Amino acid sequence: MDVAGRLSRLRALLEPAGVDALLVASRSNLRYLTGFTGSAGMLLATLDGAFLATDGRYQDQAGDELARAGVHAEVSIGNPPAQLAAIVDAAGGLGRVGFESEHLSFAHHARFTAGDAFGPDRLVPLGGLVEGLRKIKDAGELARIRAAAGIADDALAAVIAQLEEWFSGGGGITEADLAVELDFQMRRRGASEPAFETIVAGGPNGAMPHHRASADRLEPHQPIVIDFGATVEGYRSDMTRTVWVGDLADGEQERIVAVVTSSQLAGVAAVKAAVEARAVDAACREVIDAAGWVDAFMHGTGHGVGLDIHEAPWVGASSEEWLEVGNVVTVEPGVYLPGVGGVRIEDTVVVTSGGCEVLTRAPKQAVKDGRDGAVGTTL
Ligand code: ZN
Ligand code: ZN
Repeated sequence: MDVAGRLSRLRALLEPAGVDALLVASRSNLRYLTGFTGSAGMLLATLDGAFLATDGRYQDQAGDELARAGVHAEVSIGNPPAQLAAIVDAAGGLGRVGFESEHLSFAHHARFTAGDAFGPDRLVPLGGLVEGLRKIKDAGELARIRAAAGIADDALAAVIAQLEEWFSGGGGITEADLAVELDFQMRRRGASEPAFETIVAGGPNGAMPHHRASADRLEPHQPIVIDFGATVEGYRSDMTRTVWVGDLADGEQERIVAVVTSSQLAGVAAVKAAVEARAVDAACREVIDAAGWVDAFMHGTGHGVGLDIHEAPWVGASSEEWLEVGNVVTVEPGVYLPGVGGVRIEDTVVVTSGGCEVLTRAPKQAVKDGRDGAVGTTL
């Protein structure tokens, strides 16, 4: 992973943005630029240097991680007021300094602009500089996201293999327990943590796209939406599968599964470099609209994935971004019908010049019949 080259790519953006330096407050951006994984700290990236301020917990770690990444930066350790003073000091003599308007807190901004250290005009709000760099993943980043996706695939297969047993035993399992089991299987396979709070939504709960896994018991013959991912060295994967045990109880649910599946395949087929991100959204939406569920797909089609679970580029109807080789995005249409349930299918894919590579490889439909033995179908 080429961490050391990132600061110079950021520096090339400073002058066009009209600043001499960027004050980086986002933890993910800080990690991306320096390799530093601490939970607190700020970076001042100037045209010819870099200055990291963090606290005493990271005295050794900060230096070690920067050295391992081959990043040259001056490290200052101190309590929050001392860090602030050190940054102000490091910015002495510079002209305008950009700050990350999406990430620097109002309180921090007020402290920086209080007194005469930084006049309000010297600190300039900027957005998306580092996020723009992060959109294109290098080989090392792709390897980590691929590993995370593989871990999630294997964890899901392990859990689905057990589903039959849980149901045939008569007790079933709750949404929360299934989520914990998935998290456990991912951790056992080397994930440092789930990529986000694992979503398990059975039956009518599936009508809420981000339902929180609850104490509700999962029932056979009902769709179960499972949305989860793994984290490997900071990089995440994101996948949704809708599974069920036995036959689906009603024909409407079968129709939703069929429509969402073709919508998702249409979306994946539309992903390609030099295509507008919103074209992917349109490809998914067209299939769902044609089925008569115009209002039942109420979220965007996808998002970038990397150090953050949701990051640029955004794949939605209002997105103005164009896909580029090396983007990692999700394609995740869904149909949600209150009282009936929901179906969402999601893959994480890497954009290539001719199309995309799907990293999340678990079968799109996994049908298990607990009473008559396993019945598996895959697309
Ligand atoms: Zn997801
Ligand atoms: Zn997602």
